[in-house]
Amino acid sequence: MRKLLIATQNEGKVKEFKRRFESDDLRVLSLLDIEGAPDVAETGSTFAENAVLKAEAIMKLTNHPVIADDSGLVIDALDGDPGVYSARYAGPEKDDEANIDKVLKEMKDVPKEKRNASFHCLLAVAIPGQNTEIFSGACNGMITYERSGSYGFGYDPIFYVPSYDKTMAELSPEEKDAISHRGQALDRLEEVFKELF
Ligand code: IMP
Repeated sequence: MRKLLIATQNEGKVKEFKRRFESDDLRVLSLLDIEGAPDVAETGSTFAENAVLKAEAIMKLTNHPVIADDSGLVIDALDGDPGVYSARYAGPEKDDEANIDKVLKEMKDVPKEKRNASFHCLLAVAIPGQNTEIFSGACNGMITYERSGSYGFGYDPIFYVPSYDKTMAELSPEEKDAISHRGQALDRLEEVFKELF
């Protein structure tokens, strides 16, 4: 059985990669399956830099093909925050609920027409002996005033998707995959997946 390693410890992301790539002859593994896997420091200033950092560090360590995802939420009214700090916006614990609380607090006086935001996803594919490739996707929406929905992860409960008139957390996994930032980046990767691996 072939194996594909995703350089993340985020269960929400792992589920989305498995839905897309796992098959009878391809097993999707993540850092959650590797004991003592390092938490690669995200020292880059862009999603792309961080995705490449993570993919190449884990590829060098394991000598396996690796996909890394760096993603996050960019809010116009907060000058692009939380951006590359999305996971740790409220502190190093990477607590999704605390992150949402912080966004809602910062945005409490921002009027509806100024609540635009976008999710961004950069995928880096590092394969031993080959140049690292990058694939990207983005998804526009608005920040709500309160949580709604229980699917997904991260900021999904406060990210309103106008085309569905629902938050990302009210969309089924399949609906999210069809429009999300990660879904779009994965579509682009899937086009060349067979050639790359
Ligand atoms: P990373 O592991 O540094 O890429 O952190 C990504 C962070 O961005 C996550 O911890 C979430 O807070 C947020 N994020 C990324 N993708 C999504 C998504 O699909 N839904 C909700 N939040 C997301």
